[in-house]
Amino acid sequence: MSDRLTVIGGGLAGCEAAWQAASCGINVTLIEMRPLRRTPAHTSDRLAELVCSNSLGACAIDRALGLLKEEMRRMGSIIIAQAEYAALPAGDALAVDRERFAAAVTACIATHPRIHVERTEATSVPDGPVIVASGPLTSDALAQSLVQLTGEANLYFYDAMAPIVTAESIDMEIAFRASRYGRGEHKEGDYINCPMTEADYDYFLNALLTAERIPLHDFEQADMRFFEACLPIEVLAARGRDALRYGPLRPVGLIDPRTGRQPFAVVQLRQDNLAASLYNMVGFQTNLRWSEQERVFRLIPGMRQAEFVRFGQMHRNTFVNAPRVLDSSLCVRTLQAKRNAPVWLAGQITGSEGYVGSALTGLVAGLNAVCYLRGLPPLNFPITTMTGALLRYLTSADAEDFQPMKANFGLLPPLERRLRRKRERYMAFARRALRDLEAVQQAIAKLREDTSP
Ligand SMILES: Cc1cc2nc3c(=O)[nH]c(=O)nc-3n(C[C@H](O)[C@H](O)[C@H](O)COP(=O)(O)OP(=O)(O)OC[C@H]3O[C@@H](n4cnc5c(N)ncnc54)[C@H](O)[C@@H]3O)c2cc1C
Repeated sequence: MSDRLTVIGGGLAGCEAAWQAASCGINVTLIEMRPLRRTPAHTSDRLAELVCSNSLGACAIDRALGLLKEEMRRMGSIIIAQAEYAALPAGDALAVDRERFAAAVTACIATHPRIHVERTEATSVPDGPVIVASGPLTSDALAQSLVQLTGEANLYFYDAMAPIVTAESIDMEIAFRASRYGRGEHKEGDYINCPMTEADYDYFLNALLTAERIPLHDFEQADMRFFEACLPIEVLAARGRDALRYGPLRPVGLIDPRTGRQPFAVVQLRQDNLAASLYNMVGFQTNLRWSEQERVFRLIPGMRQAEFVRFGQMHRNTFVNAPRVLDSSLCVRTLQAKRNAPVWLAGQITGSEGYVGSALTGLVAGLNAVCYLRGLPPLNFPITTMTGALLRYLTSADAEDFQPMKANFGLLPPLERRLRRKRERYMAFARRALRDLEAVQQAIAKLREDTSP
């Protein structure tokens, strides 16, 4: 068996993957194209550069990102360790001095005796063993090569995401279940429908049109002129008063059981996970500021208390249709690309969303590459852990409508006992996750024991 691994991309995922594999005795070549070739968002030649915010999100384990970070800490994540080293005071969040953080990760990687950093652009995916972690701004040549690996229809270059809300935060005294014209799988209806009167519609429309938007980067502005098929809801709304109610908010085929009549307009929410605990807002891809999304979308009848687990976004993002491309055979989710072993994907390109999720997939791909190289079975992350739940989402979400996802409690299987209070419930999820992670921690410790040259 080979003891060599190539990792493409020296971002959060690539550094984590390289570090994990090298810590288990594998010789790693890490290929990073900067500073030779720049991306439109990175500004330095450091590894693990944070391209925007300096926050890695909440720390407490009863918050989804906090739990994920705790799991990663217990699995020996280099990104979490260096983020904690570079931490700034930020209340309950883990925010970092970005320069100190990137410099610390760069130093760890550059001085590791088993990692060799090569500053060049990878223009194709080599035969392997290789981990592709080239990020949302993957260079064009490599993206073309990924098209060949995944099939053209399975590689996306933009993200047009609609917000996702928890089912329990929807007021079902106002909203009703139904599918258009009564068609659909479930007798009671596949969608949750939020009915609007004419007055509701006009009030909502006015708020939507005057809400504050996120300014786009120049490169995104240029790209998005061609993005007609997935227009932001606020852009569509600006085309005329009726544009939305003849578009995504059309009420045809839907009767409100409380009035016995077709509403003036309807916002539909579609089930987003197997547990039916999350719903996405159909047609609501948007570029509004997150605080504005909360304010404006809570004007929709039935959504006054809506809890958003993901906000809508529009930006350049290279990612694969993970449920089609990644291997979920035997219920072990390895991040290995299906038909082209030994090739793994890691980082935002897998459809995991955000800094922490990107580093997590680097950790998983790096360790599973070690298992593969040693002829061992891959690590099996229980779906009761946030890690396992995210991997399950990536490999078994609805491939027809796949969207990137960040950690959230809606991905976890329900608890055996129903707890009404949210905080209590999230703490119970966290306790169960950390208990179930212990077997994986032991397996990782064993992998690291054998670091002989
Ligand atoms: C503009 C923008 C802003 C974002 N802001 C946030 C935010 O505020 N918070 C958050 O949580 N997430 C944010 N994200 C999402 C995501 O979390 C980050 O992009 C994260 O850095 C992704 O990690 P990664 O390792 O997958 O990719 P990256 O960190 O981008 O690393 C990929 C690396 O691969 C290199 N590379 C690309 N192509 C090649 C090639 N052909 N050969 C060699 N090297 C190559 C790149 O130079 C880069 O260093 C943002 C994304 C974008 C695009």
